[in-house]
Amino acid sequence: MVVEYCRTRVKSALSRSGLPDLDYALNPYVGCAHGCLYCYARGYTRIAEIVERWGRLVYVKENLLDVLRQEVRKLKPGVVGVSTITDPYQPIEATEELTRRAVQILLKGGFKVSIQTKSPLVLRDLDILLEYARSVDVGFTIITMDEGVSSILEPGAPPPRARAEALTRISRTGVRTWLFYGPVIPGINDGVEHFGEVLRPLHRDVDLVLIDRLRITPEVRRSLGQALANSERVLKIAVSRDWWSKTVKSFENLCSELGVRCIPSIAEPEKGVRSLADYSPGTIK
Ligand code: SF4
Repeated sequence: MVVEYCRTRVKSALSRSGLPDLDYALNPYVGCAHGCLYCYARGYTRIAEIVERWGRLVYVKENLLDVLRQEVRKLKPGVVGVSTITDPYQPIEATEELTRRAVQILLKGGFKVSIQTKSPLVLRDLDILLEYARSVDVGFTIITMDEGVSSILEPGAPPPRARAEALTRISRTGVRTWLFYGPVIPGINDGVEHFGEVLRPLHRDVDLVLIDRLRITPEVRRSLGQALANSERVLKIAVSRDWWSKTVKSFENLCSELGVRCIPSIAEPEKGVRSLADYSPGTIK
């Protein structure tokens, strides 16, 4: 997939999350080259062209670090989610290093950082993460170990095996790590055997598993409609309470067998809210 990159300027770097878990959110890029078909972050992106060309157009916030330095001096330190509506370690980060430098500014400024990514590129920044290990956690999103399925649903993202290996490497350095298993899509990854393929090899390396359901925004409906032969049936099951409660029950049983804390989403599938407030009970902090 060819991705076009543009530069943009911003007036603010940190946004208030208003959530008990995350005080602020920081998104170094607008749009995401991972281009996941199930991504509902598109619904939070104000630039129509990026929404239309999701995964193929990304804006780089060129003055982000200058703005962030000023904000860090003025704002009360808290926990910053990096990122919430884009992957902070998408390919352009390898050369831009916006996330790396932003994380460094935040940690030096006394903020805590909670990273969520699909990319082993985060390993590049282990030097910083280790220096501030008590103020950092890193979550990896893995929804399947099937590389064929991943290449269709997450066409621009690194292979799941590379994510799992990166998670293990980070965990073994002492930095806290967690797994985000979501979205759970009926017929794709809702069997406990699918969940087990991801969790079993990683269960000693994660403090927590967050389980998310499919959020059905108009863009997600359109993308999955193009990719899945039976998308109408999949989307119908995805809104079923009965299906979700049975799925969660079987996943919770496996987590309990493996001794891993597990927090399933309680959000409604047609509300595209992406936050840890959607998980109950408890938080990762
Ligand atoms: S990596 Fe995350 S933000 Fe990026 S497209 Fe996929 S789901 Fe959306």
